[in-house]
Amino acid sequence: MTLLVGALSGFFHSSTWYVLRNLAGFMVVVFWVATVYWVHKDARRRIEDGLLVWVSTLLGVVPFVGPLIYMLFRPPEYLEDVRERALEIRAIEKRLGGHDLHCPVCRAAVEEDYLVCPVCTTQLRQACATCNRPLEALWQICPYCATPIPGSDPLPSRPQWLSSAP
Ligand SMILES: [Zn+2]
Ligand SMILES: [Zn+2]
Repeated sequence: MTLLVGALSGFFHSSTWYVLRNLAGFMVVVFWVATVYWVHKDARRRIEDGLLVWVSTLLGVVPFVGPLIYMLFRPPEYLEDVRERALEIRAIEKRLGGHDLHCPVCRAAVEEDYLVCPVCTTQLRQACATCNRPLEALWQICPYCATPIPGSDPLPSRPQWLSSAP
């Protein structure tokens, strides 16, 4: 028993023990720096407000407890996912908006301000001679630049060709 204690005591005073202890301390510091860096990176992906990102990073500096607290309170989603979903919702709203128009010839989807169908090149609307904006069939004057629109029917393909989606 005395021999064992002596051996242990010898070990704890040996240079091997000091090396091991310093190595362990070094690993702990590296791990701590890594958690701070991770908190900062994660906060930047989840939080828009720059000040809050830095507050989160400061919280992450608290050794090991800080990152855990941050994980409990961080926003659940990445900013890019939030933006992507907002775009998707806007696209769905646009699709459900009811004002989607179709080319009368090929039924391709066209926008309200298209002059020609991009698929079959059917003329859908006239453009204003001065400002080149698309004009409605009933307009007598361009609302954008006040250029009078020639009264007669210059094209057979007036916008009554435009039909709303069924
Ligand atoms: Zn078409
Ligand atoms: Zn005009």
